[in-house]
Amino acid sequence: MAEETANLCSCCGEPLPPGNLAWDLEMPDPVAYLDDDDRAQRTLFESEQVFNIAGLGAFIRVILPVPVEHDRTATFGVWLCVPDAKEWTRINEAARKGGSAWAGTTFEGRLATALQPWPDVFGAWTRAVVPGPDQVPRLVHSHDPLLARVLTERWPEELIRTRGLHAVRPLSGGPTPNPYRRSLWSRLSGR
Ligand SMILES: [Zn+2]
Repeated sequence: MAEETANLCSCCGEPLPPGNLAWDLEMPDPVAYLDDDDRAQRTLFESEQVFNIAGLGAFIRVILPVPVEHDRTATFGVWLCVPDAKEWTRINEAARKGGSAWAGTTFEGRLATALQPWPDVFGAWTRAVVPGPDQVPRLVHSHDPLLARVLTERWPEELIRTRGLHAVRPLSGGPTPNPYRRSLWSRLSGR
C-alpha cells in the first residue's frame, strides 16, 4: 500500500489531503434520457463498460482525469459515443484480445456526459488512450476549448466537490465530423 501521508504537495509542502476524488456516471446521458421501456426495447448490448443502443449509437466508459490543486487528480467515469462503426469494431476487437493488444489503443469519440461543473463539454470530440493492459481508457486531449481546459488546468477541490447536480442531455443534431481524422485525400497524398 502507498503511504499517502508520505506524499507532500510540491506547491506548498503540506501533506496531501486525504479523500478520494473519484466519481462515476452510471450510463451515457442520451441513454439515461430514454424512458425505461424505450431503453429496454432499444438496448442491443449493455455492460459496465459499454452500451449499444439502437438509434442512439455505441458508447464506451472512459476516465476523464482532472488536475486538482495541491498535486491531486480527480477522476470521473464518463462516456464517449463512438459514431464510426469501423472504429467501434476496432476498439471492441482490441478490448476482446486484451493485454498488449488493448494497452495503447487510441480512439476518438464525442463526450456523452454533461459533466458538472462544466456541462458544456457535452458533445465535444476527444481522444482516449488505454494506459495499460486491462485498464479503462483515459481521455488525453480535446480540440474543444472548454474540455481542453478541464484536462489541463488545475482546478480548486471546492469547485469539484460543490459541482451541482448532474442533468442528463440527449444527443441532438446530426453527426459532427471527427476533427482527428484527416480527409481521405490528405491521407492518400500524405503517405
Ligand atoms: Zn499545495
